Amino acid sequence: MSLPVLTSRVGNTPLRRIEKLATAFPGVEVHAKLEFFNPGGSVKDRAALQMVKAGLASGALKPGTNTLIDSTSGNTGVAYAWLGAALGFKVALVMPANVSIARKQISLAYGAELLFSDPMEGSDGAIRHVRKLVEGSPQKYFYPDQYSNEGNPQAHYEGTGPEIYAQTGGRVTHFICGMGTTGTVMGAGRRLKEYRSDIQIIGVEPLEPMHGLEGLKHMDTSLKPGIYEPAALDEKLSVSTDEGWDMAERLAREEGLLVGYSGGAALAGTLKVAERLHAEGRPGVLVTLFPDRADRYFEPRPWARSYAW
Ligand code: PMP
Repeated sequence: MSLPVLTSRVGNTPLRRIEKLATAFPGVEVHAKLEFFNPGGSVKDRAALQMVKAGLASGALKPGTNTLIDSTSGNTGVAYAWLGAALGFKVALVMPANVSIARKQISLAYGAELLFSDPMEGSDGAIRHVRKLVEGSPQKYFYPDQYSNEGNPQAHYEGTGPEIYAQTGGRVTHFICGMGTTGTVMGAGRRLKEYRSDIQIIGVEPLEPMHGLEGLKHMDTSLKPGIYEPAALDEKLSVSTDEGWDMAERLAREEGLLVGYSGGAALAGTLKVAERLHAEGRPGVLVTLFPDRADRYFEPRPWARSYAW
């Protein structure tokens, strides 16, 4: 099946130097991958496209016959939704009822069906809910399961990792990345280690089990994603909700980068590493990743058919 041209615009996102927020650490460069440049507005376009391509190739996803279903805190859902519209397959998304209204509205606008799980059970509740639905009617669904699908890290092994290496001219010393399904950090991390095994791979997670960093998981109290290999990380850093929120708001005002809170948390973790290197008098080329843009969390006006004048 030939894929429409928009899918060729997934990946190859810009790498942007963070200058002002890192001025306290001269000698340490800080860069961020701007994943909101993907057509669906987030990093999850990469993983979703890879899993959809594999499903189409194996015949497990049959446009016009079965429905792609998965649990998602939002961005993977938006990615599946636009891919479904473009490639002609049905999409059903299971998400905690409290995910941002913007992401629900966007998935609906692409024609996806939304199913809600208990908000108090977070992303794990959505996983349990989708498993029950698929067990009940296996023939009705194609369930990629982004938490255990190797296509998820593979997208970052083939895309994000080589891009970071090339965009830093091979100078990257640390990759510091928020963890949700862990697809990004596992896939890009594995590839960067192959280029140079001394590149440090650092996962960032919320400090608190109940947190406000949408898209990230507190690993010790969550269902462990099947693709997550803790031993592949050199280090894990915890960032509090407030640190992530504050950093996202500073990025908007001081750098002109309107990123979601998980991006704020990723930069907060990155600056902890920068501070440490600076204190030790060591240089570094630090790369982090901003998964999406903040306006995905603003409450939109309903997309009404009305004239305004
Ligand atoms: N931030 C946001 C906003 C996300 O939607 C996700 C995906 N769940 C992540 C971070 C984490 O990315 P990954 O699933 O690749 O670990």
